[in-house]
Amino acid sequence: MSEVRHNWTKEEILEIYNKPLMELLYEAATVHRVHHEPNEVQVSTLLSIKTGGCSEDCGYCPQAARYHTDIEGNELMPVQQVKAQALRAKASGSSRVCMGASWRNVKDGPEFDEVLEMVRTINKLDMEVCCTLGMVTENQAQRLAEAGLYAYNHNLDSSEEYYKEVISTRGYQDRLDTIDNVRKTNVTVCSGGIIGMGESTEDRAGMLVALSSLNPQPESTPINALVAVEGTPLEDQQPVEIWDMIRMVATTRIVLPETQVRLSAGRTQMSQEGQAFCFFAGANSIFAGDKLLTTPNPDVNEDMKLFAKLGLNAMKPFTKKVQPKSVDAVDSEYQSLGENPKWTRPEHKIAKNEEAKQKAKEIRAAEKA
Ligand code: SF4
Repeated sequence: MSEVRHNWTKEEILEIYNKPLMELLYEAATVHRVHHEPNEVQVSTLLSIKTGGCSEDCGYCPQAARYHTDIEGNELMPVQQVKAQALRAKASGSSRVCMGASWRNVKDGPEFDEVLEMVRTINKLDMEVCCTLGMVTENQAQRLAEAGLYAYNHNLDSSEEYYKEVISTRGYQDRLDTIDNVRKTNVTVCSGGIIGMGESTEDRAGMLVALSSLNPQPESTPINALVAVEGTPLEDQQPVEIWDMIRMVATTRIVLPETQVRLSAGRTQMSQEGQAFCFFAGANSIFAGDKLLTTPNPDVNEDMKLFAKLGLNAMKPFTKKVQPKSVDAVDSEYQSLGENPKWTRPEHKIAKNEEAKQKAKEIRAAEKA
């Protein structure tokens, strides 16, 4: 039960997901203890270094420029500000900083050079650095690796079938190709998804088939519960039931036994008891800070109180892998190739996304009038 397998079928995963809950929890907790220290949970901080104005149409995302939401966009955050926030995160127990930019893909140029400098800066603070910047080429991934990046996040979001119901501006294969590009470097892969977008349990299992078939499997898998934001196509989705979240975490733990399973967006909707069940089921990372990119997140002090109640300890950085070496820009072996590749645009239509876009146009027109 606890070996790493890349040939899971959807049926096998569904059988696990649908087990009587106590059986499922027992199995997941057993697998967890074989591969991880059960009383350690990594605390990561997610930092939005460039917010809003994104060209993509991800149906769950308030940062997509085509929808009308309350998100305040900003330009790329200065390196010194990133450093100050990373230091604050470290002081409050975070061992990892994940920087997110609302880009479709990385473009070579001054902004990417700034991001590389942010990676070097945080690496020098002896913290794990993760980036989520959209699609990347192999050369861009190599440049991030050289700067000292520990992990690159690129979520599969859902099953390949349901992905087409949520996003029309880029394909599933593009996401797999980006993960492949990251795999050609020594940067670890972080990839997971979101539940509560209207997908079926088959889709949840399908996503786990896709993640588990990656060889090696991702070192980190975030499991997000949708936070339905007004103005997005998924604004009317009902919150995910805590039992679904627990089942998803437990099933992920069994199918991806060595992976860090990250309890990500949606924690504000979960009780402390619900979160404790998730930790028991094998979640061993949380995101700290009052915001997760743009959506609310529990206060870090509350998290620390919960850790104390449960006897959990914050994981030290580089527990799973040694700190990557960070090469200064002047000594760089990988130079900018001036890349801004044309990743594919499937551009099928998704009715909900079109409606939300139309509604946003009308609101903007009324605001101008
Ligand atoms: S999820 Fe990322 S790529 Fe999609 S709209 Fe939001 S910021 Fe853009």
